[in-house]
Amino acid sequence: MVPPLFFWSPQLNAAPADQIRLLDVQSLDVRLSQLAHKRTSLPEHAEIESLSKDLTQLRDLLVAAQTEESDCAREQTKAEQDVDQVRQRAVRDQQRLDSGAISSPKDLENLQKEIVSLAKRQGDLEDIVLEVMERRESAQERVAELTERVSSVQAKVDDAVARRDAQQQELDSEAASVAKERELVAGSIPADLMKLYEKIRQQQGGVGAARLFQRRCEGCHIELNITEVNDVRAAAPDTVVRCENCRRILVRTSESGL
Ligand SMILES: [Zn+2]
Repeated sequence: MVPPLFFWSPQLNAAPADQIRLLDVQSLDVRLSQLAHKRTSLPEHAEIESLSKDLTQLRDLLVAAQTEESDCAREQTKAEQDVDQVRQRAVRDQQRLDSGAISSPKDLENLQKEIVSLAKRQGDLEDIVLEVMERRESAQERVAELTERVSSVQAKVDDAVARRDAQQQELDSEAASVAKERELVAGSIPADLMKLYEKIRQQQGGVGAARLFQRRCEGCHIELNITEVNDVRAAAPDTVVRCENCRRILVRTSESGL
């Protein structure tokens, strides 16, 4: 009898029970990749990113408002000093005028003119002080408002981070227990079968072994044609069969429809 020409060469043998256990490893691996995917696609990631952007902008605005406020404070001090100087000079002029020490009409006239001009100058400088104080006040209001907004957005960030961390922790602990189980099952499967499985899994998007269910490969979901069905039927139970279409390890069960 001529042996059938297997399309799943090179030939690898493994006990049917080991092949079935490979399906367990596969489903644990699928679970692990689902958990990893879930971990990276938590909605909190996008939420934190967007909130952090807002926070950065608000902090920049706050720094700008604080700078404006301190600039105004300096400006106010300077303007008040100017007012003070003018006022003191006017006081001195007035004292000289009142002292009667100046007798020259020309000097008296000049002094009176200066007092008038100083009074006007003082008024102008006081207007500047008021204007600066108004600007400072609105900068202070802005600082207060932005401080409040920063702390409110910061609280939202903290909340989202806490939610993200809690979920990740949960996913990590589930993944750890799945990985442990996977290690156990994989350890009971012959090394050459595991090696082949890992190689195909890498090439085939995480799925290296698939169940043959009612003549359909559950890896690529394509139904085997009659020649392929016959080849699989003819194969010894411990032959490791591969799907002709996707090359995955095809595991036979009682529901394979053979
Ligand atoms: Zn297939």
